[in-house]
Amino acid sequence: MAEKIKIGIIGLGLIGGSIEKRLALKPDLYEIKTVSKSQNRDFQLVDLKNEDIVFICSPQSEVNKILTEIALLQSKQEGAFAKTIITDVASTKKRIKDKADQLGLKNFVAGHPMAGTEKQGYESSFPELFEAAKWILDSEAPRNIILEKLITEDIGAKIEYLDVETHDKAVAATSHLPLALSVVLAKVAMNLPATKKTIGPGFKSMTRLAQGNIAMGTEIIDLNRKNINELWQDYKAEMDAFLSAYGDDLERELKVVKDKLE
Ligand code: NAP
Repeated sequence: MAEKIKIGIIGLGLIGGSIEKRLALKPDLYEIKTVSKSQNRDFQLVDLKNEDIVFICSPQSEVNKILTEIALLQSKQEGAFAKTIITDVASTKKRIKDKADQLGLKNFVAGHPMAGTEKQGYESSFPELFEAAKWILDSEAPRNIILEKLITEDIGAKIEYLDVETHDKAVAATSHLPLALSVVLAKVAMNLPATKKTIGPGFKSMTRLAQGNIAMGTEIIDLNRKNINELWQDYKAEMDAFLSAYGDDLERELKVVKDKLE
């Protein structure tokens, strides 16, 4: 029988828990060790030093601390994490990649699964979360066949490659500015007394992101503020142009965007 692939997961929230639950469906293929306070798991970071792949699934703001601890263990213990592919799932990437480079972690592959729900924590995690979702990997990191097969064949996601700067700008447009808009849209609407009587599915879908994980939303806006702000300037100009168009011009705008989205 072939040797199992050794997996470490740090943080069993929505994302880490979903990775664990999915890989646990293939016990002949994967042996999993998890580091988790909330789930009282026995392992510590040091116990992951000989794993093939380690997923860091903590809040974004903790990833650099964990990378620093890994680098420290590497320097203290011969061979620790020497062959381990270390990857993360955080929603912004440049700050983390810069830290990994600064620490000399050559086997670090920045990653970001484009999947989630409004919920958080292990109890909300489920094995199908990443089914058919995109999973971004750093295009400038070393390619690793075991990680790529795990993501595509066993997790069921589709890998897209982007460098970390392009990634952070792109997710500002597709995920982080939409989060900010969702929050502000809800806030402005709630200030109008009659709002509650008129809420329908359109408003609900436009404000879904505002109902998500507050700690994660705070980190996202804080850590990708520059890209979100730059985009907001374009957004304001586009909105002004859109709202000053009439009749045929307005119809053309609506049609162009609808065609592009299809
Ligand atoms: P979550 O459900 O709140 O889980 C985060 C987990 O991190 C916690 O359950 C906890 O696990 C662990 N944790 C908390 N504080 C920690 C600390 N100080 N050090 C180490 N671990 C700590 O959040 P999530 O949605 O899984 O998000 C995790 C990461 O995925 C974030 O970096 C986020 O940006 C990224 N992400 C989230 C989504 C999404 O839509 N939710 C999508 C893509 C990427 P234990 O109690 O088990 O230790």
